[in-house]
Amino acid sequence: ETILKISNLHKKYKNVHAVNNVSLEIHKGNVYGILGPNGSGKSTTLGIVLNVVNKTSGDFEWFDGKSSTHDALKKVGAIIERPNFYPYMTAGENLKLVCKIKDIPFTKINEKLELVGLLDRKDSKFKTFSLGMKQRLAIASALLNDPEILILDEPTNGLDPQGIRQIRDLINLIAQQGTTILLASHLLDEVEKVCSHVIVLRYGVTLYQGTVDGMLANE
Ligand code: ADP
Ligand code: ADP
Repeated sequence: ETILKISNLHKKYKNVHAVNNVSLEIHKGNVYGILGPNGSGKSTTLGIVLNVVNKTSGDFEWFDGKSSTHDALKKVGAIIERPNFYPYMTAGENLKLVCKIKDIPFTKINEKLELVGLLDRKDSKFKTFSLGMKQRLAIASALLNDPEILILDEPTNGLDPQGIRQIRDLINLIAQQGTTILLASHLLDEVEKVCSHVIVLRYGVTLYQGTVDGMLANE
């Protein structure tokens, strides 16, 4: 079952070929990494498939093209920037707001807070959370509608070692539950620890594509 198919994608900014002929197929149940140093085109690629950045050429298709990109994106959970929650509202209140906006039943709130290990902090104000807790709340929020795929851009940036471990454990748990995951990272050990498949980018060009085990064997 194909979740996303990217074919010969290009993105050119004025002076930069940010994405240079990237192709990628994402199948249900796997965890995919986009690995590359800063500026290699990871965020641009994610932005294009999420319809927030315009492509220059090439194509992408969600769910075998059975629905429009607009409808398909309702089945996608994505965290591509620092999530903006209301600091003086509690975790539970913030998620309630998301449920209202997206027409999701409130019953999902406890389920997702429990999944990310924040159920006991449901009534704490967002501003009291550590960065790691904020990120886990963002993941809970992105999962409220039980998306087919979770997309994360540099999910552990800025976190301390304990926060990094918690996020990586959480990603593995979400993957075990059957959610397909696509994550962008500049950290080899992050991709090693959570991904089964990887595309390695540099200056927008694909350097390697395949299993993580294959990449490590090729080094
Ligand atoms: P990554 O996510 O791997 O750090 P990006 O996709 O953010 O890489 O950036 C890829 C390249 O495109 C970089 O050289 C970056 O400077 C450039 N770039 C990204 N966004 C823009 C933009 N809006 N305008 C001009 N150049 C951009
Ligand atoms: P960036 O790398 O995008 O510049 P930083 O990690 O430097 O982001 O964080 C910028 C600000 O956003 C900091 O004040 C930080 O406390 C806040 N922040 C970071 N992560 C989150 C989050 N998940 N939710 C809310 N605020 C956050």
